Amino acid sequence: MAGNADFAGKVAIVTAGASGIGAAASRLLASRGAKVIIADIDEAGGEAVTREIGDAAHFVRCDVADIEQATATVEAAIARFGQLDCLFNNAGKATLANTPDTSPADWKMVVDITLNSVFYLSRAAIPLMQAAGGGVIINTASVSGMFGDYMMAAYNAAKGGVINYTRAMALDHADDNIRVNAVCPGLIWDTAMTLPLGTQRGGWEPWKASIPMRRGGNAEEVAKAMIFLASDDASYITGATLAVDGGLTAQTCFPDLRPILA
Ligand code: NAD
Repeated sequence: MAGNADFAGKVAIVTAGASGIGAAASRLLASRGAKVIIADIDEAGGEAVTREIGDAAHFVRCDVADIEQATATVEAAIARFGQLDCLFNNAGKATLANTPDTSPADWKMVVDITLNSVFYLSRAAIPLMQAAGGGVIINTASVSGMFGDYMMAAYNAAKGGVINYTRAMALDHADDNIRVNAVCPGLIWDTAMTLPLGTQRGGWEPWKASIPMRRGGNAEEVAKAMIFLASDDASYITGATLAVDGGLTAQTCFPDLRPILA
């Protein structure tokens, strides 16, 4: 395994870096020697994570759904730190609705933040990586991009797109020495996106019952998988989707036969 400073001299952008999984990834990258651009619409949150990390971090206010702001974020990485080695397309947004109940505006918002942003940032970053002789792109997809959920139509569509777009970019840029991979978090229950679900009827119990490891994951557990895929330890991995889900997607969802057969 590479040592703890294996990102020394590297520069990364982390979108949605002000909170949850993105903040955990930013902290971990900095602890391993990287310089990090934290890109988020939440200025207070982004500045707070940046202050905590110190000189190795720089906050850029960026709405990833806006191609001009996304492109400017890539330019900001060059202006501030002189290069770009790793792009973490981590932003995503869900609405809880089936198809007839999803407004066109909500559908567009979910797809813009979750899927189109990956295109906007990658489109600006790849030519720089090509010119530099290589790079790494890590996309935060979801188990909700691998399979369908009840009441998450737009999110399922957008995250499914992120997974297959990851494969397409991996193919197109393998000979540019640019690796492109996705992580697929399951229930990550310590982030702002997910915490409200634990306050619904039944709390976390039905969630835990559906997960073989019987618990949610933490943001840092996803960040560790992201940083592994971005590191030289993953030098022969491209186009992959790595589930970080406590075994959730290892199942057919048929009932557990152990109590039935006991
Ligand atoms: P979070 O709510 O903790 O953080 C989301 C961040 O995104 C916030 O800082 C917010 O300000 C920022 N953001 C929202 N809209 C933005 C925009 N337009 N431009 C820039 N930043 C914006 O969420 P999280 O749980 O850490 O989620 C991070 C990623 O992980 C998302 O792509 C999410 O879909 C994915 N994911 C999360 C879970 C989970 O259970 N938490 C599971 C699977 C996938």
